[in-house]
Amino acid sequence: ARPKIAISACLLGERVRFNAGHKESRLCSREFAKHFDFVPLCPEMAIGLGTPRQPIRLVGDPASPRAVGTRDARLDVGAPLAAYGERMAGELDDIDGFIFMQKSPSCGLERVKVYQANGHPAEGTGRGLFAAAFCAHRPELPVEEEGRLHDPVLCENFVTRVFVHAEWRQS
Ligand code: SF4
Repeated sequence: ARPKIAISACLLGERVRFNAGHKESRLCSREFAKHFDFVPLCPEMAIGLGTPRQPIRLVGDPASPRAVGTRDARLDVGAPLAAYGERMAGELDDIDGFIFMQKSPSCGLERVKVYQANGHPAEGTGRGLFAAAFCAHRPELPVEEEGRLHDPVLCENFVTRVFVHAEWRQS
């Protein structure tokens, strides 16, 4: 069977972003789709935020940020995003990789901005709260950000790890 990859749904052209838009990646929707089956998911939609919606961002301690609304910080969704990440990590036991949308406070894997009280982002390495919870529970799973897959070396490395995982899972 073809390897199966979970993917941030906006990368497949689903209109699930805060502004009801998408971030279709032709690399994924056209090239990767020839070789892999996809399981698209949008954590922000899954926890009940609709479209269009108030955007969220990470704030506070970069080591354990919160995810709050950019216009109204009373919208505080870190806990449900993390819970959904943990739940999906358990449920998606038949996937061979995950392609995440970069820079997202939910889906980003690295260098997501974490805003400080002065209104500026901290230097460093925030991780989206869905992605953080998911990856913490699936450390063996090949994961990558879509943006990095445009680098041929990183792309080949990810694809190789996905096929190795698929072979192991199906053996
Ligand atoms: Fe949904 Fe993640 Fe895409 Fe944001 S980055 S729209 S949370 S799938």
